[in-house]
Amino acid sequence: MEWGRSQRSGAVIRLAESAIRRYFPLAQALEDRALESSGTLAKNLIVVTADGLRWQEVFEGIPVSSPLCKPEDGRDAGQALPRETLMPFFWNTLARHGQVYGNRRYGSEVSVANRMRISYPGYSEIICGFPDDKRIILNSKKQNPNRHVFEWLNKQRGYRGRVAAFGSWELFSWIFNEERAEIPVNAGFEKIRTRGGLSAGQYRLNALLDSSPRPWHDHVRPDTLTWAFAKEYLERRRPRVLFVGFGETDEYAHEGNAAGYVQAIARFDSLLAEIWRFIESHEHYRGKTALLITTDHGRGRHNWRMHHPLAPGSEETWFAVASPDLEARGEVRESGQIRHEQFARTMLRLIGQHHEASDARMAPEPEVVFEKENTLFAAPRMDGGSFPAPEVPVTPGGRGPER
Ligand SMILES: [Zn+2]
Repeated sequence: MEWGRSQRSGAVIRLAESAIRRYFPLAQALEDRALESSGTLAKNLIVVTADGLRWQEVFEGIPVSSPLCKPEDGRDAGQALPRETLMPFFWNTLARHGQVYGNRRYGSEVSVANRMRISYPGYSEIICGFPDDKRIILNSKKQNPNRHVFEWLNKQRGYRGRVAAFGSWELFSWIFNEERAEIPVNAGFEKIRTRGGLSAGQYRLNALLDSSPRPWHDHVRPDTLTWAFAKEYLERRRPRVLFVGFGETDEYAHEGNAAGYVQAIARFDSLLAEIWRFIESHEHYRGKTALLITTDHGRGRHNWRMHHPLAPGSEETWFAVASPDLEARGEVRESGQIRHEQFARTMLRLIGQHHEASDARMAPEPEVVFEKENTLFAAPRMDGGSFPAPEVPVTPGGRGPER
């Protein structure tokens, strides 16, 4: 939804501030001045997640030896694909402009710190900066008791009223604790509502929710719809901080639908390309936006269908980061360990923000991401100059979801 459900006085003040910013460009400019001293070129941050997408598929594609290629329970097997065919945008464009961690064949290890290795604890760790194995142990509709960096950023000058989250999975509203955080969270099949009335695009998107297939009932909407809602919001409201959580990969994997899982990965890649294209084609974002892309947990090394505290491999993940301020290193083939609890402070540093009221539980950002190893080469700008024509996503044949 567009506005927090609770209408406290703080919300009223923010509403007034938002109106002022909206109707008085000078006030907006003054707010933006606050960002000039941030020390980073990136003033915007977009965080994208693909639920339960394994590092094995990201780095290795689908080799013939993959369990995804072996028929299981009479289901369709996945098709062998090199990684550049499975995720052409990720490897041909994103990796060349950024840094990709998590290829364990080279000792680059990315892991979740929480011991649950399921989604709610995974996303909470990412946005809060620490695991909470005592209180966050289930995927249940309970408000997150912990504060997160999106909530904190929404209170900072230059970012007030310019933070939003969109997710395929309905639980994001609880994970972000939408009421307390007072940032709009649109997730699952929830329609978007605004105080100022819907745009024609939002009206159409709400109608699409009604007519969309619901293979996973009301829990997870199609990822393309999640991006459509997020894009409409980007066009209309120009948020500076945006979370986009995609969910289809995990759903197909749990079903054991290898072909569906592989197709969902290919769609995720094409959605990343669309996000990149959006950034490159808008003055407000081009050359001023940092991207952090990851997942919420891994999956079993052999049994790719599942993930849980006792399934080895469920903690093993990956992440990619790109920003006009960072060195472009591509796939990082050096050994090292990065944990998801480090992402929250990473997000802040990417846009030059410092969490002063620091929560002692928040893990420090991984310095390796920010190191300038070779000062002779400036970090390439995401200036769109080398952006390739969109490629047709891979859609190997196979059955759709069965529930
Ligand atoms: Zn799952």
